[in-house]
Amino acid sequence: MTNLATPYRTHTCGALRGSDADAGADARLAGWVHRRRDHGQMIFLDLRDRHGITQVVIDATESPEAHAAATRCRIEFVVTVTGSVARRLPGMENGKLPTGAIELRARELTVLSEAKTPPFYINEPDAPVDEAVRLQYRYLDIRREPMLRRLLLRSRLVEEIRLSHHANGFVEIETPILIKSTPEGARDFIVPSRLQPGTVYALPQSPQQLKQLLMVAGTDRYFQIARCFRDEDLRGDRQPEFTQLDLEMSFVTEETVMDFVEAMAIDVSRAVTPERPLLQVPFPRFTYAEALERFGSDKPDLRFGMELVDLAPALVDAAGTPVSGFRVFDETLAKGGRVKGISVPGLGDASRARIDELTETAKRFGARGLVTLAVTAEGIHGPSVKFLGDERASALALRCGAVAGDLVLVVADRPPAVADVLGRLRAELGTKLGLADPAVLAYCWVNRFPMYEWDAERSGWHATHNPFSGVLAEDEALLVTASGDPERPSQDDPAGRARAMQYDLALNGWELGGGSVRIHQRALLERSFALQGHTLASMREKFGGMLEAFEYGAPPHGGIAIGIDRWAALLADQATIREVMAFPKTSSGTDLMLDAPSVPDPGQYAELGLRFVGIPEKG
Ligand code: ASP
Repeated sequence: MTNLATPYRTHTCGALRGSDADAGADARLAGWVHRRRDHGQMIFLDLRDRHGITQVVIDATESPEAHAAATRCRIEFVVTVTGSVARRLPGMENGKLPTGAIELRARELTVLSEAKTPPFYINEPDAPVDEAVRLQYRYLDIRREPMLRRLLLRSRLVEEIRLSHHANGFVEIETPILIKSTPEGARDFIVPSRLQPGTVYALPQSPQQLKQLLMVAGTDRYFQIARCFRDEDLRGDRQPEFTQLDLEMSFVTEETVMDFVEAMAIDVSRAVTPERPLLQVPFPRFTYAEALERFGSDKPDLRFGMELVDLAPALVDAAGTPVSGFRVFDETLAKGGRVKGISVPGLGDASRARIDELTETAKRFGARGLVTLAVTAEGIHGPSVKFLGDERASALALRCGAVAGDLVLVVADRPPAVADVLGRLRAELGTKLGLADPAVLAYCWVNRFPMYEWDAERSGWHATHNPFSGVLAEDEALLVTASGDPERPSQDDPAGRARAMQYDLALNGWELGGGSVRIHQRALLERSFALQGHTLASMREKFGGMLEAFEYGAPPHGGIAIGIDRWAALLADQATIREVMAFPKTSSGTDLMLDAPSVPDPGQYAELGLRFVGIPEKG
């Protein structure tokens, strides 16, 4: 065992055992007063440090001075105690503590630091405490067992990641935090330069360009536990700064990267959370098209079924003409839309109110409506049955694999809307109805993403993931516009059909990370940038350094980035990444503990040549 002895302690508060008492050992411990019980002549202190809790007994007759000091002690005082290790009296052992067989009989007790009464109890780890209070006093929150346990898990995660990379020929290289903008689709945080007034650095949204330059530099396999910064509205579970495992490999194909990452993820998961079974090894791989078709999501949760089913075959005649008799379905199909359904187990007897609630949820997700078919032993019920007829309604339910007791939810709309709404209903109901086993880790890959997405606002294409992603060899010819001029793009351009060498790793319905094999040839990269609306001048301005580097011999390369915060949160079974971050910010980007951001000292910004204008008055 690691020796953690220091002048303040011979042992940690989690180390002493019955055998130390039997050996007649003396010990010195240091820690926080976790609990205090004053029985007059005897005072019991539970002493706590990161490693555990040890009971200390201070007897007035044995050590009057130590007893006097202990009388002064309150919870969370920091003390050091010297004494002899003794077995507890029979019947007084505490089976729940590893140190529960013994106690330290104090001879000397020194108060190292006093403590005010904390705003919440450290010794009641499960007591609910408002998150704002926890964040303001995060250093106290981390003293509580659950938060500490999660940070330890995160530390183990990073340790295992490092081990796995070193075992596979990777070099850990740090890249700068003050850089030039590397776009990942978010807004940059910028830092004004004092030495070069009127200029700014950007904080990295990711080390993307730097890691690619490291491949040009010949480092072959790079990784970094990298801090990244994205100035986004903090919708949902986001933080302005976060950590990712960032890696890049030379002379690889998509398979090489995915195979390494998969083996690494398996090793790391088994080492960090050995008690959590992996649903499927090797990880299932879906194309983007298949993932959307079956799960309505590019990060499917595979811990439960409830797949999306195409209902069209049960709604058309032999010639493919929609004939269901239900106008919504027939019109949607006639217009090239889709009609798809999922079968939700156990909701067959849902009340009117529950069904209204589901319809509202579907509308919130963007549906125009939701068609429900309740499957009972007596037959199929739902407002659409009078149009569809019993036979067709049964056929629809059957296609969805529904049995008595299930509720079939059907959405008819444009293809992307159908996938999105049903995908989100599936994910939400899977969690709400407890269909997903919380113990299981279900990893999967999704690849073959479209290279570009149409940006209606800008009337142009932008990269779906990464502006540097490579194109599948068979789709390279598609990197053109219909007009032949990249400056005149349109939504029907062949480029819209080109697929990227892009792969995402998902875990339990969350996107854990994504990466790609990159374009390593300057000419092709410029062609792709042009399709993303860059002129030659703007390419040089934004990516000049990298384009130039590609003229000096760039190896084929690819990589990935995996969110460490998310990974840790999922392994620790937490719904938000804040629970695995030592000092996260609130949803408005505030650090409640240090009170940041704050108004700078006027001297500070004058020195930078800056003036704040148009800042709304607070109040
Ligand atoms: N730079 C990308 C990201 O941060 C990951 C990658 O393509 O390696 O999402």
